Amino acid sequence: MLKDEDRIFTNLYGMHDRTLAGAQARGHWDGTAAIIKKGRDWIVDEMKASGLRGRGGAGFPTGLKWSFMPKESDGRPAYLVVNADESEPGTCKDREIMRHDPHTLVEGCLIASFAMGAHACYIYIRGEYIREREALQAAIDEAYAAGLVGKNAAKSGWDFDIYLTHGAGAYICGEETALLESLEGKKGMPRMKPPFPAGAGLYGCPTTVNNVESIAVVPTILRRGAGWFSGLGRANNAGTKLFAISGHVNNPCVVEEEMGITFEELIEKHCGGIKGGWDNLKAVIPGGSSVPNVRGDDMRDAIMDFDGLKEKGSSLGTAAVIVMDQSTDMIKAIWRLSKFYKHESCGQCTPCREGTGWMMRVMERLVKGDASVEEIDMLFDVTKQVEGHTICALGDAAAWPIQALIRNFRDEIEDRIKHKRIAGIAAE
Ligand code: SF4
Repeated sequence: MLKDEDRIFTNLYGMHDRTLAGAQARGHWDGTAAIIKKGRDWIVDEMKASGLRGRGGAGFPTGLKWSFMPKESDGRPAYLVVNADESEPGTCKDREIMRHDPHTLVEGCLIASFAMGAHACYIYIRGEYIREREALQAAIDEAYAAGLVGKNAAKSGWDFDIYLTHGAGAYICGEETALLESLEGKKGMPRMKPPFPAGAGLYGCPTTVNNVESIAVVPTILRRGAGWFSGLGRANNAGTKLFAISGHVNNPCVVEEEMGITFEELIEKHCGGIKGGWDNLKAVIPGGSSVPNVRGDDMRDAIMDFDGLKEKGSSLGTAAVIVMDQSTDMIKAIWRLSKFYKHESCGQCTPCREGTGWMMRVMERLVKGDASVEEIDMLFDVTKQVEGHTICALGDAAAWPIQALIRNFRDEIEDRIKHKRIAGIAAE
């Protein structure tokens, strides 16, 4: 279990002062200029050595991503864009950073922007996060007033501006290139890649898009050293992580823990156990609604990091852990996710636009058992035709929950179809 002195987020629950004075008292904004004066290369190398992998879902190494930005400007400005469009069902970790510990993010934006040669950073926050936006804007205003951002930010010699802008509630704007389109004032539709944002991102300029948590942990990593962070968790799965646990646990919560904690320990230590006990656990979606669900009996010993959950046929994703007990109608739960993805498809590519609707309609019938058993394989086949054949990952996100449902709970689907048929015959 993570020791208190290793916590990066010391005001996750808003029990302390979130203003600049409070943040500074907890050690934030300490020696920021000295970190910057060590230079771009030092910061990027240190981030690589820390082993930090992106906290927004994909898990791409953060330091490596930063190193893709051009070393010398060709005349175009460079930008850091922070993805605060946290909209995946089950995911509610970044909001705690923004409303209770916002200075971790503001300081991280300055250091990360400097490391990428960016004089400007845009934070794109989910439209529904109104209180979070207010708290974050207040922190930005305080930082400007104290000279921590703006001209000669924090007396580092680096000029830096930070802008907060909000979306209008479309899930797809959390996809990095759709986010850039939306920032530019266009419809939030994902772009084809390449070019990647590091080559041509916001306004056609070199851009890196990072998740809130990925940026907010940067100052502490650089203050305490890459070795400290990489010493937490397992190789290739380093550091601390915010887990957002919801569903059928006694105490749903967001908690910072060491990567590699087992699922059982996470639930017992922080959530007061599963409602009705471990035998009552039916399934878990361990990383936000788009990752495959895992059967409860297979989940208890799961290691909660990138590799551990891959071994279970799923993914760490955003570490939004959705726990479902035996009272859950799994078919209906996954149908609800299908409905979400169908609603959020931007409609740009055919397999996603047509496939998400098609999958949702079949799922609707499976909820009632109003289908034939053969249709289960047909549905699986359609998910395979959507997966990997779309511009962005929303197609995969819509396909994976259904695939895992069929893999893990096929007996439940078939039973419902058979019961419906028997009930129909009996009624004749
Ligand atoms: Fe739009 Fe779906 Fe294609 Fe993504 S996969 S670009 S959401 S239609």
